[in-house]
Amino acid sequence: TATSAPASSAPIKVNSQNVRYSESTIETDYFYDKTIVSVDASGSYSAKPAKVHYQFKTQSNVGKVGLMLVGWGGNNGSTITASVLANKHHITWNTRKGVQEPNYYGSVMLASTVKLGVTENGENVNVPFHDLVPMVNPNDIVFGGWDISSMKLGDAMTRAQVFPYDLQRQLYDLMQEHKPLPSIYYPDFIAANQKDRADNVLSGTKQEHLEQIRKDIRNFKATNSLDKVIVLWTANTERYADIIEGVNDNADNLLKSISESHDEVSPSTIFAVASILEGSPFINGSPQNTLVPGVIDLAEKHRSFVAGDDFKTGQTKIKSVLTEFLVNAGIKPIAITSYNHLGNNDGYNLSAPAQFRSKEISKSNVVDDMVGANQILYKKGEHPDHTVVIKYVPSVGDSKRAIDEYVSEIFMGGLNTISIYNTCEDSLLASPLILDLFLLADLMSRVQFRTSSDSSKPITEEKWEPFHSVLSILSYMLKAPVVPPNAPVVNALAKQRAAMENILRAFIGLPPNNDMMLEHCAY
Ligand code: NAD
Repeated sequence: TATSAPASSAPIKVNSQNVRYSESTIETDYFYDKTIVSVDASGSYSAKPAKVHYQFKTQSNVGKVGLMLVGWGGNNGSTITASVLANKHHITWNTRKGVQEPNYYGSVMLASTVKLGVTENGENVNVPFHDLVPMVNPNDIVFGGWDISSMKLGDAMTRAQVFPYDLQRQLYDLMQEHKPLPSIYYPDFIAANQKDRADNVLSGTKQEHLEQIRKDIRNFKATNSLDKVIVLWTANTERYADIIEGVNDNADNLLKSISESHDEVSPSTIFAVASILEGSPFINGSPQNTLVPGVIDLAEKHRSFVAGDDFKTGQTKIKSVLTEFLVNAGIKPIAITSYNHLGNNDGYNLSAPAQFRSKEISKSNVVDDMVGANQILYKKGEHPDHTVVIKYVPSVGDSKRAIDEYVSEIFMGGLNTISIYNTCEDSLLASPLILDLFLLADLMSRVQFRTSSDSSKPITEEKWEPFHSVLSILSYMLKAPVVPPNAPVVNALAKQRAAMENILRAFIGLPPNNDMMLEHCAY
């Protein structure tokens, strides 16, 4: 059967003295424009444009890359694996409306375009996002992973009840070839109602668990002749871990706590530590605080990559668009009230208070940056009321319902109420994000840079550096982005997308995109 590869335009070659291509790299000189602002004693602003010279070097050979999912047999894990297989083998299926083709809709990298530039006649030229820089073809991803449930992937797909029967039927044998590796189960971290699933668990101490996971990553890499493995947590939401001085506050203490099997070290943190020690990027798709300070410290020491937290899918994604629109339109949201109900295993797990609390936290800060940026509408410290409710309703299955009410203050004291009812297959929203997170994490592990603070002087630094260990460029896909220490958190979706687009453009030596359209301003 033919492969249904993601649509691709012709390769992009940048003709510029600032771009150098070699057999295996793209190297660019890039001038980053910023505006330095200072405030004097009288409170007036002084703004000064500044340029910073960067050089970027991107490995253009993508190699063979594996993706190991923690929670592989869950709804997301089985859905993304099945989807990639369907695309790879071009499996079509019958629906009551006719034949459905596989696709990568919902992935920014694979199903959206960016404006590359304009023709000489001023017409926009749009290209697939993934064509800007060399990226892994999703059909070539080698999947693996762990689950505390021993169910093979074919049966896990059936249990998930996400895909229609005709697609399940054709994928079943291919899926059934895969079985998750035994995983780490500390009952205290996920809801008690998950206990019946846990028939595939490692015995031993926390140190032994860490060593086993490291070994699993190494074996997977060797067996499949991979150049790189990326590890992504899409397992159950855990409760928050307490951050305790001497336990998980820095790398050394965390490693010591693992060796002592300390109670506050969660399974997800052990996976993060194992990945870092194996040099594998680690991404947390769930809301809990897996990336405790000790994990970030360890990642920085090893120059390994981490990203999190929590896939930004339905309700929160809309919130980070709608609030940005309202606040930037000069309208003042005063109450955002969100209800959800869902009936899949994620909802079942979230029906326990400690796990719900993790989700409540990750959903709650999503409008902070937009509110904080508008001092006309909001006094310092002022915030709209923001409530999040999640209920488990088994019969709706994976088809999550989200009901939101936005009440805003408009002109001259008037009120505006917007109500939204959003219905969607939860796992079909999250799965393409797994691909975007994977593709960008892989890309970022192939890019290095060097810089000089003064663009008028040449870069004297010889050494190329990787990006910071905390990959905030992945924020678009994440509900509660973890960022490098002291960096601001951006939740506004349009800004997050612009950041991804413009950073990728920088890697090929192109200026940031803007929609000024000056080429159309003259008669
Ligand atoms: P799921 O319950 O169907 O799958 C989770 C899987 O993880 C299960 O198979 C379970 O057996 C396994 N598991 C639990 N603990 C484990 C461990 N320690 N090691 C290995 N496996 C373990 O849930 P899902 O719908 O696939 O969602 C997965 C995660 O993604 C959840 O935490 C959810 O909150 C998060 N998430 C999902 C969405 C979405 O739209 N689907 C959005 C944001 C976040």
